[in-house]
Amino acid sequence: MPACLIAVAVPVPSLGRLSYRVPPELPRPAVGARVTVPLGARQVTGIVLAVEVPDEGHALKDVVAVLDSEAFLPPDVVALALWVADYYLAGPGAALSVAVPPHGLTGRTDAFKTARRVAITPAGLDLLAADEAGAQALVPGGRRMSDVQRLTLRAATSVPDGVSLAELDARGGARSAVARLRTAGLLSVRTVRVERDPFVDGRHMAVVAAVEGRRLTDEQAAAFETLSALVDAQRFAPVLLHGVTGSGKTELYLRLAERTRSAGRQALVLVPEIALTPQVAALFRSRFGDRVAIQHSALAEGERHDQWHRIQSGEVDVIVGTRSAVFAPCARLGLLIVDEEHDSSYKQDETPRYHGRDVAVVRARAAGAVVILGSATPALETYANARAGRYQLVRLARRVLDRPLADVRLVNMRDAMAEAGGEVIVSDPLREALQLRLERREQAMILLNRRGYAAAMLCRQCGHSLECPQCSVSLAIHRRRSGPGADSADRRHWTARCHYCNYSRGVPSTCPQCAAPYLEHVGIGTDRVEAELRAQFPEIRLARVDRDTVRRRGSLVRLLERFARRELDVLVGTQMIAKGHDFPDVTLVGVISADVGLGLADFRAAERTFQLLTQVAGRAGRGERRGEAIIQTLYPTHYSITLARTHDYETFYEKEAAYRHAMRYPPQVAMINVVVKGRSYDEAMQGAHVLAAAVRSDASNTLIVMGPAPAPLARLRGDYRAQFFLKGTHRTAMGQAVRRALEVHPDVARRATLDVDPLTML
Ligand code: ADP
Ligand code: ZN
Repeated sequence: MPACLIAVAVPVPSLGRLSYRVPPELPRPAVGARVTVPLGARQVTGIVLAVEVPDEGHALKDVVAVLDSEAFLPPDVVALALWVADYYLAGPGAALSVAVPPHGLTGRTDAFKTARRVAITPAGLDLLAADEAGAQALVPGGRRMSDVQRLTLRAATSVPDGVSLAELDARGGARSAVARLRTAGLLSVRTVRVERDPFVDGRHMAVVAAVEGRRLTDEQAAAFETLSALVDAQRFAPVLLHGVTGSGKTELYLRLAERTRSAGRQALVLVPEIALTPQVAALFRSRFGDRVAIQHSALAEGERHDQWHRIQSGEVDVIVGTRSAVFAPCARLGLLIVDEEHDSSYKQDETPRYHGRDVAVVRARAAGAVVILGSATPALETYANARAGRYQLVRLARRVLDRPLADVRLVNMRDAMAEAGGEVIVSDPLREALQLRLERREQAMILLNRRGYAAAMLCRQCGHSLECPQCSVSLAIHRRRSGPGADSADRRHWTARCHYCNYSRGVPSTCPQCAAPYLEHVGIGTDRVEAELRAQFPEIRLARVDRDTVRRRGSLVRLLERFARRELDVLVGTQMIAKGHDFPDVTLVGVISADVGLGLADFRAAERTFQLLTQVAGRAGRGERRGEAIIQTLYPTHYSITLARTHDYETFYEKEAAYRHAMRYPPQVAMINVVVKGRSYDEAMQGAHVLAAAVRSDASNTLIVMGPAPAPLARLRGDYRAQFFLKGTHRTAMGQAVRRALEVHPDVARRATLDVDPLTML
């Protein structure tokens, strides 16, 4: 066979696609197969992007080895990753790295976990039978069978697949006897692959409601009819399922997945938060048994690896996972569901900065599948697409069984503080409402979207605040110990920590700038709320849910389980508690400050606030008892707060869309953000100027360049940062202009990060 030329992506972010020659003695690889190729003095494993690429006339290096006889990554996943690379202005290697399972490119073949299983052989069985009949049973060396050997043979009997060594011991045998008996042909030992099962936690989730056999409400039934017709048609169809909180969207997802499965196709369900995957996966598991796989980054590497290979082998019908599961290697996709599609965790905040929801729509189009974007508070982009007719709109306007949405009360914190003559964390109305819940033995959730004890330390004399030496932010204050009985007032037990780079230091008693003894903590965080509630309600059974308390794998699931089992009265937490959870006994939701996100110079601040408040209020009153939400705020007339109070998405959309239109912000225009790093302020600014000028001079374009200017986070981990934005209506042309600018200035390109469709400007 003549040599063939192939294009390969290697896991080196800065490299594009590379061409190699497959020498005639090697098999011709498939698209998606892994190959070992020379790269400089090294050899690396890459993925084949295309075969039979045109000869460009220059000498190419030879592929060293072809590792797979067929595709390792399905060709449509390769194509999807290349689309991501192209759209989000990343290299193909970076885009493919999110689609490849752990160890996929390390060349390690021992990534599967194996175990030995011991079984008795026919010869062993004969010998045991003879022994039990009273005959002289001889084993190797012509000796009589010992008691240990007899017990070991028995322990390995009557289990068709054999027993593990641990089971052998437990059944009265001894693993120390195995080697001899095996040599004598009385036992056989096999090595089998064991699957690491991530469901051990999820299986015990008490929150799985008994749902079998219940009837859909009229509204659910109408929505199901529309959606199942789309699933049956087996064509690309993008749908926005706009359903208020508690309207029973999950039940529809389950039934549509069943419909998809019975047509021989697969369903992929994306959820925003790792904490939600065990809950949702457990629901699907209770319906689909073990034909469900799970994919998210908090799985142990081995579990993730095994789940990936189960999906690839076609053994599963339903895949539940977070953002990166959109690249799951399933070949028969018929349905994609993006639950809570507005959630910002679908956007990856490192290269490639893709949006899982948007990639899901692209994947559905390629697969001829239905994609359902579900939310009570759709992203502005999504709702605009539905209005424009690009997405079909299906609504669920009421909660199941006509349960009312929570009553939302606003507490004006300016008044509360004026009255109290100082800082107020829990206002009177919220405290009384909580007291009532504790008396009635109902549950409550208290939200504050900032972790730690205090936001910063500030000197009352000179105004200096403790700052991170690496980043341009104040250090947040954390207590070394929290929970019941912790002493909060003693600042010797505090640390000051950077939430960006994790730098930490002790808290000094005097100001490092002016030496005055007036350093005070300002701004509250979840840990302070916990301390305050414990002080006011000494008997309270409370747990805090934020990144500080749930760092360990599985700890969040365990906390949520305890809450579901009613071993806890109150959860205090960040936005982690606002999403998707369904706890029927929660009748009160408190928001300590609705204003945390509002002050940010970010065009999405109002949208985020509206979504967070609507979602968290939606956690209350999902069972038989009516729910109430109490929102503390300094801005009780801000539209994102008043409209969340009345659960009025439509009006919010109108107002917000008008503002974006007037200011020329997305979704009115497309936006690309370019950040350039430097070792000094000047280096960063100069680099940004050079790139911005190159983009501006790109005559082919009708785009606006804003900036450059220092980034809002002007220093991060020691680097200075400058940024500029492109705005325009032709995203492809904008992307090309950026690419050309980077090609002309490769030295600056190395220091630049690109964000297409940025979610924040920070
Ligand atoms: P959403 O995802 O829209 O917020 P869920 O799917 O979590 O809402 O449903 C809210 C609650 O109503 C859940 O406890 C769910 O089990 C229950 N539920 C859903 N559909 C029905 C139904 N047809 N009859 C009774 N209860 C239902
Ligand atoms: Zn820092």
